[in-house]
Amino acid sequence: MKSENKDTFALPQEVVRAAEILKTAGYEAYLIGGCVRDLLLDRKPKDWDITTNAKPEEIIAIFPKTFYENEFGTVGVVNEESADESLKVIEITPYRLESGYEDFRHPNVVTFSTKLDDDLARRDFTINAVALEIKERKNTNLYKGHLIDNYEGQKDLADRLIRTVGNPLQKFSEDALRMLRAVRIATELNFIIEENTISAIKEGSGLLDKIAKERIRDEFVRILLSENPANGLILSHNLGILKYISHEIENGIGIEQNLAHSYDVWEHSLRSLQHAADKGWTLELRLAAIFHDVAKPKTRKFSPETKWSFYGHEVVGARMTEKVLKNLKFPQKTIDKVVKLVRWHMFFSDTEKITLSAVRRLIANVGKENVWDLMNLRVADRVGTGRPKENPYRLRKYKSMVEEAMHDPVSVGMLKINGNRIMQVTHETSGPRIGHILHALFEEVIENPKLNTEEYLEGRTLKLAKFSDKELELLGGSGKEIIGEIERKTIKNIRDRYHVE
Ligand code: ATP
Ligand code: MG
Repeated sequence: MKSENKDTFALPQEVVRAAEILKTAGYEAYLIGGCVRDLLLDRKPKDWDITTNAKPEEIIAIFPKTFYENEFGTVGVVNEESADESLKVIEITPYRLESGYEDFRHPNVVTFSTKLDDDLARRDFTINAVALEIKERKNTNLYKGHLIDNYEGQKDLADRLIRTVGNPLQKFSEDALRMLRAVRIATELNFIIEENTISAIKEGSGLLDKIAKERIRDEFVRILLSENPANGLILSHNLGILKYISHEIENGIGIEQNLAHSYDVWEHSLRSLQHAADKGWTLELRLAAIFHDVAKPKTRKFSPETKWSFYGHEVVGARMTEKVLKNLKFPQKTIDKVVKLVRWHMFFSDTEKITLSAVRRLIANVGKENVWDLMNLRVADRVGTGRPKENPYRLRKYKSMVEEAMHDPVSVGMLKINGNRIMQVTHETSGPRIGHILHALFEEVIENPKLNTEEYLEGRTLKLAKFSDKELELLGGSGKEIIGEIERKTIKNIRDRYHVE
């Protein structure tokens, strides 16, 4: 495989410079963790970590701009001028020994070390424990590098295996989050978890109970945002750890649905989620996809016509989703959006029977800013049901109606003058002449939008006021026709884009 014996690496100059500064000051410096793993896999690293025998104060002393990252002595080195987000902060962590985690959240003590191998030994997985020392520059951004791989990380990379450094059960009792990290990394990289590591997760899964919700949420989010989130959740379930994310999702297993559905609630939700991922949709949509039917197990009733009914599951489901996401400490903005999508996912979309005002009501309920996500949720829901057609006529027609309902009607309302102002300017009292003037002005603005200024319109109003009733009516009348014409054209345009009548 390509990674074995690899000795040339493309490295950003910010990273090379940080390592050089440490070395020039007499310290050791190695790239470590996810960035080395990703370099060996030809993936773009998400962030860059350096490990060193320098202590935090010593690191701070030799870099111009730094800050303390965390309780592990990690120092963030700042590169403000870097255009690449992943290089704005490079994390430099002193070598350290495994820390005790009595409360499973914060280490009791952090013990630094002078030996690289101590630091490699305390890392979670072999593929994350390969260190890279930067040697000389070959050309532009290519550097010769030397790999220190004391735990066969490159071999596991070649075999696509996640394996703990050292005894897995001990590793997981030291920090239970590592079990979820194993699943997350396996999901992101499409790797397999090694057998002994699997057994240890099954045995130790209960320890996740003690882990801070924020840490669990972060791994859950990364599983959802990966290319294969459905696989990630299935794996989590099989290893007994999905319930520490949300047991509510698992309750859909074996919940048979009515005759229109080929899958149980669990598989349907996974397929909906996977479709959202295949489309590259947002985290909020992926959350809505996995949770939209979460209340189906609770609300299921036998129904003679359809076999099962789930009356009100979107209302109960919205409440359940809110509780789960709150418990996982998601930001309120995320919660609000996902809850709205779940709450309104059952909108009635029979375009033969609904009116534009019903569509307007739905938009008001779910919010203008969420309505297109709601349409996408419907697509995911549909595909997750096993219906191959993503965008059938009915849904296209519905979307077209949404756009019509949202489209700001072209009207005299957008003029920079109104009836009251016309009366003030002309000293005329209210009556049909005011309306005719408005429409006459509108006709001009439609032809030339630049004329839509208070100054022009007021001046023009004074001139129009001199016209006879008859003349004004004529001018205003053609204005009305133009409005009708533009409205018709805009709506035709919308409908054409959706290929609906
Ligand atoms: P990515 O950057 O893609 O999220 P990563 O593996 O770099 O993946 P980080 O959270 O950046 O993940 O952690 C950097 C490195 O620190 C890891 O590669 C691993 O060596 C080590 N590490 C992180 N979390 C733990 C942990 N809970 N236990 C042991 N080692 C860990
Ligand atoms: Mg990283």
